[in-house]
Amino acid sequence: MLFNPELCRNESEVESKLIVQYLLPQLGYTPDTWHQEVAVGSIRLDFLAFGVQVVPLILDANSPLSVVMEAKSPKQNLNHHVLRLRHYLTSLNVRFGLLTNGKEIRIYQKLRDDIQLVFQCDGNDVEEKIEEIRGLIGRESLKNQQFKEQLEVQVSNLEPKKEHSMKTIAIYHNKGGVGKTTTVVNLAAAIRKKGKRVLVIDFDSQANTTFATGLVKFDDEEFDDIKESNLLQVLQSEDFYPISEVARKSSFCNPEIFVVPAHIDLMRNETDLNDLDGSRLILIDKLESVKDEYDVVLIDTPPSLNLYARIALITADYLIIPSDLKPFANQGLTNVKEFIKGINTFRRQIRKPQIEVIGVLACKISTNNQFVRHTLPKRLEAIPKRYGLEVMDTVIYDRDDLAKCAEKTILVGDMELADPVSILDFKPDSSAAQEFELLAIEVLQKIGLV
Ligand code: ATP
Ligand code: MG
Repeated sequence: MLFNPELCRNESEVESKLIVQYLLPQLGYTPDTWHQEVAVGSIRLDFLAFGVQVVPLILDANSPLSVVMEAKSPKQNLNHHVLRLRHYLTSLNVRFGLLTNGKEIRIYQKLRDDIQLVFQCDGNDVEEKIEEIRGLIGRESLKNQQFKEQLEVQVSNLEPKKEHSMKTIAIYHNKGGVGKTTTVVNLAAAIRKKGKRVLVIDFDSQANTTFATGLVKFDDEEFDDIKESNLLQVLQSEDFYPISEVARKSSFCNPEIFVVPAHIDLMRNETDLNDLDGSRLILIDKLESVKDEYDVVLIDTPPSLNLYARIALITADYLIIPSDLKPFANQGLTNVKEFIKGINTFRRQIRKPQIEVIGVLACKISTNNQFVRHTLPKRLEAIPKRYGLEVMDTVIYDRDDLAKCAEKTILVGDMELADPVSILDFKPDSSAAQEFELLAIEVLQKIGLV
């Protein structure tokens, strides 16, 4: 018999007879791979053994796998030492801990911030169990585990990350004409140009976004091909009209984006839809099915507190509130806040996190020097103070180019067709284009997509 627990009468005999003379050699540790009485900060370890030789002795996230061995007197109950061992393993980043009083041997493994018992035996049985112990904390085993883990890390680095990262942003203010649609379409183009795949959803029955992205070529009802397949059908039908069928490619910017169009019929059907309880949640489910196809979804909303605005804000993860900062628009922020409150109550009921307000975006701001220098800073400061809402860093100024690019037309024969383009495609060097590029950078940063 190589080890006899009866011969261990105190802590120092457990150290010498069980650990130094028996366990360390049996587990393949040579004197250059284990250390006795190791002090790390305020912690003193009885023994620390590594799969490979470590000189100088450093314990950090990149250290090779190691095992701490703590010897106690046979009179000690091991249960009283588990918390301390946990502290050692978790704070020093050591993978395994062996705890013994000679009569009993336990092995714990570190899991993030906790440890787990992975082996236990009587001191009398240690020779019988030595193979099992070697498999867990033997030197060869630590080396192999380390090699396997490094390989796994390398392989997982090669695999594309499949994390769900599609972010949905609603652009909303209940006041009309503040620049919601202009923001949605040009921000969509700017984000697209940063390499993100973009879907725009038009929630406004005026269908301004649908027009602004060039989905309606003819102003004639006879050529209306949107009536039969638009947001209304998406919201009405649980089983049909998935996003993948209803979204249309828009070449109003390059590369292209996709748009779920709106139609004037949305207005007539609002009451019917109101009776359909599920209609508020259908879009959430339908978007879930295209989460791998898009990185960013931008939702344009109507200037109202109606059902469509509600569904848009129930669906979105984030909210941008465009405001022209005119006194009336700012008073409107109180309505927006009230509205968000109601939305968040509903979201709590359906266990969806609260909508995250990215901030108030100053839009259509006068470029008058005096105004920019003196009035604008005061108006911007007033928003967090009075309304408790953040203000975005980017400012979108009043620029003629923004209206021009939206109203662009082409002549086909004797017909004048709408041919809107994004500001970034219309005049890439213009101030307006640069402002939208800055806005895209700010938004992507704030939603964690850069
Ligand atoms: P609604 O509430 O009716 O949907 P909206 O908030 O979507 O309006 P837009 O349609 O974007 O507002 O803008 C209203 C008008 O102001 C449009 O004619 C648009 O071209 C113009 N406009 C918007 N933003 C700017 C800007 N930064 N510079 C110049 N003109 C702008
Ligand atoms: Mg609009």
